[in-house]
Amino acid sequence: MALKRAFIFLGPPGAGKGTQAKRMAQRSGLAHLSTGDMLREAVSRGTELGRVVRPIMERGELVPDDLVMKMIEERLARPDCAGGLMFDGFPRTLAQAERLDAILESAGFGKPVVVDLSVSHDKLMRRLTGRWTCSVGGEIYNVYDAPPKTPGICDHDGGKLVQRADDRAEVVKERLAAYDRATKPLTEYYQRQGVLHTVDAAASVDEVSRALSEIVERAERRDGHL
Ligand code: ADP
Ligand code: AMP
Repeated sequence: MALKRAFIFLGPPGAGKGTQAKRMAQRSGLAHLSTGDMLREAVSRGTELGRVVRPIMERGELVPDDLVMKMIEERLARPDCAGGLMFDGFPRTLAQAERLDAILESAGFGKPVVVDLSVSHDKLMRRLTGRWTCSVGGEIYNVYDAPPKTPGICDHDGGKLVQRADDRAEVVKERLAAYDRATKPLTEYYQRQGVLHTVDAAASVDEVSRALSEIVERAERRDGHL
């Protein structure tokens, strides 16, 4: 039987995790689990979780581990997760990573393939303050580097493009600090497990995609097909 595979995209806010995960999900059919998207959905639906996390996200801080883990565990119970997983923006703390390891092991997944999208902080401000996202399909644009054909409108489905409240410069600074403090140490954690791949995420979207495809192919050759 093919090994059930889990991919983890690490990297600071704005590194391109969502952009690459969306492309890879289309190609591979793996379930794309973005904790940021899930939390924003809870906020926009006004659920109990949404009411709790809204002010935390507006400040650019991390949501407490227990809330994130409960949300992930519920999501993992859905049938589309059975074949393979792609985590985007999760795990973000050592506690989340350790709990994910235990979940993957008990669910019969192989060791995750972890990709660190590495890019210097000075590039990230431009990427984040220039990011606009389709309110319908979630397509990601950048007004400086990857603009839509018509300003404010998605090329794919005509949806309205919106800017995230936490992509303001003051909040971006806090998010980058949270990354340095809590998430960056995960690279060492996965390095020690021998599952970390580092990709130069300052390269173009297509170049990063190609580098990811090579990593996926190597993992498939090593472990059997997805
Ligand atoms: P993340 O999910 O890591 O926060 P996104 O995928 O949302 O990052 O990308 C952040 C911004 O950077 C978006 O505006 C996106 O269009 C842009 N972007 C993503 N990858 C690249 C790249 N390789 N080069 C230049 N801009 C990029
Ligand atoms: P993102 O869309 O990944 O940039 O996440 C947006 C915001 O959601 C973050 O700044 C955090 O407040 C929150 N968030 C997303 N994922 C996590 C996570 N795994 N752990 C804690 N907070 C998270």
